Amino acid sequence: MKTKNYASYLKHPVFKVASQVVTENNLQAYVIGGFVRDLLLERPSKDIDIVVVGNGLDLAKEIATRLRVSKVSVFENFGTAQFKYKDLDVEFVGARKESYRRDSRKPIVENGTLADDQNRRDFTINALALSLHQENFGEIIDPFNGLDDLEKGIIRTPLDPDITYSDDPLRMMRAVRFATQLGFKIETESLNALQRNAERLNIISGERIIDELNKIILAEEPSRGFKLLNSTKLLHQFFPEMIALQGVETIDGKSHKDNFYHTLEVLDNISENTDKLWLRWAAIMHDIAKPPTKKFDTEIGWTFHGHEELGARMTYRIFKRLKLPLDAKMKYVEKLVRLHLRPISLVKGNVTDSAVRRLLFEAGDDIEDLMTLCNADITSKNEFKVQKYKKNFELVTMKLKDVEEKDQIRNFQPPVSGEIIMKAFDLKPCNEIGVIKTTIKDAILEGTIPNEFEAALEQMLIIGKDLGLTLSNDFQMPKNNIFTTDKK
Ligand code: ATP
Ligand code: MG
Repeated sequence: MKTKNYASYLKHPVFKVASQVVTENNLQAYVIGGFVRDLLLERPSKDIDIVVVGNGLDLAKEIATRLRVSKVSVFENFGTAQFKYKDLDVEFVGARKESYRRDSRKPIVENGTLADDQNRRDFTINALALSLHQENFGEIIDPFNGLDDLEKGIIRTPLDPDITYSDDPLRMMRAVRFATQLGFKIETESLNALQRNAERLNIISGERIIDELNKIILAEEPSRGFKLLNSTKLLHQFFPEMIALQGVETIDGKSHKDNFYHTLEVLDNISENTDKLWLRWAAIMHDIAKPPTKKFDTEIGWTFHGHEELGARMTYRIFKRLKLPLDAKMKYVEKLVRLHLRPISLVKGNVTDSAVRRLLFEAGDDIEDLMTLCNADITSKNEFKVQKYKKNFELVTMKLKDVEEKDQIRNFQPPVSGEIIMKAFDLKPCNEIGVIKTTIKDAILEGTIPNEFEAALEQMLIIGKDLGLTLSNDFQMPKNNIFTTDKK
């Protein structure tokens, strides 16, 4: 067993005080797991786990008292206690031994030694323990050569990987997640075990799977994770729509691109420009409906007509199944998927002001994110094509800026309110009001009239007349949109 001293890493007052209390009471207690791993990798980490041989609760309370922390959350049933100290989250748990039976997902948990506790951990690099007792303060207890693996960048299970993964299949997602986050390699035996046990992922709840998946997506190069999920068949268990993107078909010598790898390229591209999880999700989803819309046309080759619309509609279903949120975040992804072709298709025709205004109107405040997605979507093996697209893309960006400055369409509010329309034509709430509003909006987006109150008011009178409405006798032309009470 390797012993190395890392006392200099434990300068924080929490460790000083913990060490005092541990030593005075002659306890065995260790900082363990992810915090130690991240400390050695110099990755910032705020969650400290302390494992105590015996009861961790009293130790937690005493350390908290000395640090003048008044609130300690104690979970008697789990034998854990937790408190916050400054920006750190410190958790105490008694060392435990876990044994699994084949027929049950729940382990039998008993009190154990440090070694027992290390045995139940998922990876060698997550089983490192730093001693807090003064007599070996800062010494690393590393029964599985986790330090070597940390140095070499290897993900390895402490015990037989088939057992580790089968006992708790979430560990398979964690293996891929750590490999992706840390840029590590999954050791061959483990990799084979992942394939053998992939189907066991089905006993894990969607929420826990998605937590790990989101961490993969937020990594620097998320494609690494997806490639691993694919080759191990883990992805097949929960995201078949992404698997369906794979493959290239050729008819009459014409092939389409492999949309799985294209999607991963877009995801990596976008990850260079954003850390927003939901924008990265939009990249994952943007072509999701290509398989169900794929057709071959003898004249033009492969087409995927309507994949943006169908993709937007698939978003809700997929988010629901994957236990992703169904609120504004889902709506945002849906919208970006729906609009993802629009900026580029602007380039193909004449970039008219009205087309730009319509795009601005539909994208609203998400226009920059849409452009980021669109930019990431420019992938081709042909560098000449890429350059051409990028140039066109810049053109659209400039045009958007121009039109935005001139017309301020982004957060379009109807310049004439429903209330003014009702007063003007003596109307109760009815369809005509909506018709007038939409027609005014369209006239502004088309550029027939400017995005200004007076012009819109004049337009209102014309439309009202066309609809056969009579102007109310006591209607006074307002000077501005003073009645704007409804935001429709
Ligand atoms: P992060 O905090 O970045 O998610 P972590 O490794 O700290 O990574 P936690 O979920 O905080 O992950 O867990 C802390 C420690 O608990 C891990 O380092 C590992 O030792 C152990 N652990 C967590 N989940 C499992 C699991 N499913 N099986 C075995 N050990 C686990
Ligand atoms: Mg952690």
